[in-house]
Amino acid sequence: MSTGSRTVWRNVRIAILLFILAVAAYSNWYDRWSTTDWDETLWIGVFPINANDGAAGERYVSVLTTQDLADIESFINNEARRYGITLDRPVRVDLYPPVTEMPPEHDATGNVFSTMWWSLKMRMYARRNSHPPGRAPPQIRVFVLYHDPSFSQSVPHSVGLQKGLVGVVHAFAERSATRANNVVIAHEILHTLGATDKYDLASLAPLYPIGYAQPDRQPLYPQSLTEIMAGRYAVDAHTFEMPASLSEVRVGEATALEIRWMKPK
Ligand SMILES: [Zn+2]
Repeated sequence: MSTGSRTVWRNVRIAILLFILAVAAYSNWYDRWSTTDWDETLWIGVFPINANDGAAGERYVSVLTTQDLADIESFINNEARRYGITLDRPVRVDLYPPVTEMPPEHDATGNVFSTMWWSLKMRMYARRNSHPPGRAPPQIRVFVLYHDPSFSQSVPHSVGLQKGLVGVVHAFAERSATRANNVVIAHEILHTLGATDKYDLASLAPLYPIGYAQPDRQPLYPQSLTEIMAGRYAVDAHTFEMPASLSEVRVGEATALEIRWMKPK
């Protein structure tokens, strides 16, 4: 190959790479913009999965109804209204038929390339599994693995990705846990809309003031409400508890700014 044609080839390869990067950047920007403009109802689909670690998952998933998820939709819509969103129904949350394929596993100790590879696999998984026959695919896809509590006392970390508009939630397959599971599902949904965590990753303490639902309360402790992206409320400066249901949870101003319910002052 002559030097001239080698240079042409190199330029073509660089142009293709730049084009791919531009398409990816545009699609990420478009997803972020279109899911947080709040000018039409955002459609969220919950896809239950039997985590297959005991008999409870199968049973729980087979009787789950949209009604069991109703407080997720009313929580988000009530909070949106509180921040001045005038849309009649900012989000709708629908239950989809169970999915049998397990989502790709995430190695939290992996490097940046293994995380990129996993997020690519996750996008392909979500695309494959969010088009059940006769149903339109939702804009946000949340896959919820229901674990048998008698076999799994603790479950892996849940995740929500804004790039890809997909979440994977690990939850407990028992009726008494339904409302607490819905707190985790709502948290991961808000991650897909661009909200960030508001707790200290090491101590799990809610960050003050952005992780407090009542930052101006006098006296400050005990807090009685939880900021959704903090996940826990402070009983005192060293004790943090998880809320039992979304009726004890609020969206704080920092989160409202991130998901564009508020404009920066
Ligand atoms: Zn989180």
